[in-house]
This record gives sequence, C-alpha cells and structure tokens, in this order.
Amino acid sequence: MVYPKPARRSWAEPWKVKMVELLKLITPEQRLRSIEEAGFNTFLLRSEDVYIDLLTDSGTNAMSDIQWSGLMLGDEAYAGSKNFYHLWEAVTQHYGYKYLVPTHQGRGAEHILSRILIKPGDFVPGNMYFTTTRLHQELAGGTFVDVIIDEAHEPANEHPFKGNVDLVKLQQLIGEVGAKRISYVSVAGTVNMAGGQPQSMANMRALRELCRLHGIRIVLDATRAIENAYFIHQREPGYQNWKIAEILKEYCSYTDTCTMSAKKDALVNIGGWLATNDQGLFEEARNLVVVFEGLHTYGGLAGRDMEAMARGIVESVDDDHMRSRVGQVEYLGQHMLDWGIPIVKPIGGHAVFLDARAIYAHLPQSQYPAQALAADLYVDCGVRAMERGAVSSGRDTKTGEERFPKLELVRLALPRRVYTQAHMDVVAESILATYERREQARGLRMVYEPKYLRFFQARFERI
Ligand SMILES: *Cc1c(COP(=O)(O)O)cnc(C)c1O
Repeated sequence: MVYPKPARRSWAEPWKVKMVELLKLITPEQRLRSIEEAGFNTFLLRSEDVYIDLLTDSGTNAMSDIQWSGLMLGDEAYAGSKNFYHLWEAVTQHYGYKYLVPTHQGRGAEHILSRILIKPGDFVPGNMYFTTTRLHQELAGGTFVDVIIDEAHEPANEHPFKGNVDLVKLQQLIGEVGAKRISYVSVAGTVNMAGGQPQSMANMRALRELCRLHGIRIVLDATRAIENAYFIHQREPGYQNWKIAEILKEYCSYTDTCTMSAKKDALVNIGGWLATNDQGLFEEARNLVVVFEGLHTYGGLAGRDMEAMARGIVESVDDDHMRSRVGQVEYLGQHMLDWGIPIVKPIGGHAVFLDARAIYAHLPQSQYPAQALAADLYVDCGVRAMERGAVSSGRDTKTGEERFPKLELVRLALPRRVYTQAHMDVVAESILATYERREQARGLRMVYEPKYLRFFQARFERI
C-alpha cells in the first residue's frame, strides 16, 4: 500500500505538559451577573469566573521545569545573592548591557529612570505611548510626544514595521524645542499599543545616527524586544540566517539603556530590571532603587525570582520557542482574517487586536465601543480580553479632556506556553459569534473614574 504524502508539515510547541491547572466554565447567566458586578470592566472580574484568560501576557507565563527547579536554589541573602549575579550575567550575555539594577517589575525601572533623566519641562519623544511609561514620564514633569510613523495609527495598514520611529517628526521636535530639552528618546520594540508591531533594525540604526548627532540618549523599552527580534528575522532582508539571540543583541546595541518588564518576554510571573552601559546613570539608579524598591542586589524581588528570570531569559531567546510563541498568535489572528473580522494588521507578536471601532461601527467612541466589545466577548464564552482605546488613553494632563485615540481596540493577549491550539479554536469561534451579533450591541457610560490609569478600575453601565 502506498501512503499519500502529507500536504504540509506542521510544527509543534517545543515543550510538553507536565502539570495541569483545571479550568471551569460557568453558565451564561452567571457570566452576565459577573460582568455586571464587575462594572463591565474585565479587570474587575474574578479570575475564577474566567474560562480562557487573554487579559494580558504579563506575568501569566508558564515556567519550565528548569525554572521551577531554579526556585529551590533561591539565595535569600539580603545582600549579594548569587541569583542576582546569575541574572546580571544573563542580561549582559543576551541583551548586552554592562550594568544591571533589578526592580520588582517594569514600572519600578521606569519610575527610577524617569526620576533620573527627566527634568520638569522636558520632552520625551517615543514610538507611541505605553500607559505606565508615559505616566512616569509625566509624573517626573516631562511631556510625551508621539513620533511613531503615521501607519501605526491605521489598523488596516500592512506596513511590516509599524513600530518605526518617524525620523522627520523627531527632527521637527528637536528643531522646535532643542536637543537639550529632550530627556531621551523612548523606543519600544514591539509597540504594545500599536498592536504588538515591530521596529526594523534599519530604523533603529538610523535613529541611533540621528541621536548621536544631537547627543540624545535612546532608552529601549525591552519588554518584548525578543518578539521584535523575531519579526526582524521574518521580515527584514539580511536577517533570515541569523539567530534570534544575535538579532536581539544587535538591536539593543543601538541603545544606551533599557527598562524591562520581565513578566512578558522573560517567561516569569514577576520581575523587571533597568540595564545600562552608562556608569553615571547606573550609580544614580543604584541610589534610588534602595529608596523605592529594595537593595540594589534584589530590587524588590526574592532571590528565587531572580533565578527564574535568569533561566527564563535563556529559554526566551530560543528560536523554536519564539516561532511557536508568535506562531500561536498568528494562528488565532489568521482565523479572524479568514472570516473577515476587522483586526489590526499585520498580526502582532503577543496579541490579536480586534478593531472595535469597525466592529461596533454604530457606537460613538464616547460610548467606549472597545470596552463594550470586551464585556460582550466575556459573556459569550468566558473569554477575557481588555480594552485598548479611549478608556486606556485617559485624559489630557493639561486640559483634563478625554483623549480619544484613533485606535479603539480590544486586545486578546496570549500568555506564553499556557494555552493550546484547541483553546485558540474556542476563542476564535466565540469572537465570530459575538461579531455576528454586533448590530445588537449597546454602548457604555462611565460611572466611576479613578484618577490614574483609569482603565484598571473604572466602572460602567450599559446605555
Ligand atoms: C507591561 C509593560 C510595561 C510595564 O511593566 P510592568 O511589569 O507591568 O510594570 C512597560 N512597557 C511595556 C511595553 C509593557 O508591555
């Protein structure tokens, strides 16, 4: 007998499951009650009431047996823990920076960095804002200026590197305010708020040149820099035969300093760091970390957390890991494209972003269509996503007016190494069912608004 050749050869996750956590799906009536009690804010749901949790890829990663065994090797000495030195080595080896200050998570590093580098009245240009990053810049007296390319604000635009900095916009800002009043250029790769979109190596290189000319620092938000490196490998001519690890190192080499939320790329549940090549900055950061986080050799973390991070970094730059990580996101996103459901294109590195403005086209942005869509999706099948639109954007610090961004999105972020392809099928089908009922959808009115980062705790009612 002759067996037919398979039409294609699939790849699979480069790991197998050793322990499982049981899931529960509550009834539709219970879900409706839960979302009402949560004020139509998926951040206020109890995780027990969630079936498939795509709220965030932050701190939701599954650690490997190698990382878990590292937890048992925690050196919980107050000062000079050996795990700190392991972490320092891993960061230097894979990201290339000389000096390391651990912090409890990314915003701890952002806080310290902003205090050191930003003077009141300064400007901080960046390739689109991130919530905590911009808030720390503003709290330090700086003004964030968006210098991302225009394509990033257009969900349907298929530019391969929508995270690129628009060098003309940056030059204009330098011309207007002068290089002295620019604290640093804040670059993120990939750009979370643009839909997990990458920056090209060529753009980073050109940015380096421009900044060198004007004596301006570049600070990298390295939270998803490995996913950025994966896209460079996939899309940028000349990098196809490079290892992700090599691309990452070149990418970081164009920057002076980075802040990191290790809860993303680094495959852990908590942790972060500030890393730099600048000795002066390092000294100041070491002074401040003691005030706000903890001693400079633990930065608010347990020794075991630093060990898990050190081991996670090594696993996170692996080529097969990255292919399956981004491959799963693409698998979910491709369903949306096949079914004609509007999403941000190209599909991002950590999440699929539904274009709520297009899906709930009958709702004005003042009725928070993305917030409403995230709530409706939860009620359909217990899938938890989050709003990335007007609610997340908040208010203008000077005028107090609501900022209505061009992008009104619902983000489905995929935890690393947690869910299977079958889970992704269930998610895709639930989105399709919600999409098919889109004309019946109703908007929301905000009834409670916190002062800072309102999206975390705001409450809504249906109109
Ligand atoms: C999550 C995140 C941060 C903040 O890090 P935390 O660990 O949540 O404090 C900063 N920048 C980006 C791009 C992020 O995704």
